[in-house]
Amino acid sequence: MHKATFSVITNSSMELVDITAQVSTVVKESGVTDGICHLYNPHTTAALTINEGADPTVQTDIIMALKEIIPFELPFRHAEGNSPSHVLASFFGASEMLFIDQGRLLLGTWQKIYFCEFDGPRTRKVHVRIVTEA
Ligand code: ZN
Repeated sequence: MHKATFSVITNSSMELVDITAQVSTVVKESGVTDGICHLYNPHTTAALTINEGADPTVQTDIIMALKEIIPFELPFRHAEGNSPSHVLASFFGASEMLFIDQGRLLLGTWQKIYFCEFDGPRTRKVHVRIVTEA
């Protein structure tokens, strides 16, 4: 099994950061040609997702829609004041699983892997575990 961790620097309170290149680098370094790539986000106000990467307005539209879905004026009780960020993190989830096929991530033509920042800006981490198919 190949293990790696990389950092993601976010620049705004809510942002989708394309991490496909960083994950692809880890896959390449692993030397694994056929296997599974697990990604794990160890933060409670951030998440991972896979979505379109060709048109950057898709990411801004997702953020705009999320701000409408979670009413920030709800009477949240969490003292830190970032309950909407925690809710969004659970909506998306902390992990993603991808197939490695012929040494490359088996993503769809338009798909990119995104780190979802919901309480930035911060410096975040993503853990990677790559398992070879026997
Ligand atoms: Zn909190």
